[in-house]
Amino acid sequence: MKNSRLALLVQQLLAQSSSRETIKLAVGELLLHEMKIEQEWKELTTSTPLENMKLNIRVIPAQQQCMWCFLVYHPGEKETICPQCRSVGAKILSGEEFYLEAD
Ligand SMILES: [Zn+2]
Repeated sequence: MKNSRLALLVQQLLAQSSSRETIKLAVGELLLHEMKIEQEWKELTTSTPLENMKLNIRVIPAQQQCMWCFLVYHPGEKETICPQCRSVGAKILSGEEFYLEAD
């Protein structure tokens, strides 16, 4: 599966003709589970001016809050059951971020 957000980012960087050697990307843990960012980055930037740019990924930990007992917990992979009351139905507080960080 192609990650369109990463493809969009590459397009933006190409348009800026950035001379940076490294870009810093903040990525939520939940997205990281379903994306192969480094592999896709390589595919998207091969034979472009970004080919030698280094990708630096900062992972933002996932957090969910149970909508029944309000416990805030760190979800396991694909895990959406509250560890305290076992109910399904949690609000994602963080872990879906995807943005370029300032230097
Ligand atoms: Zn709960």
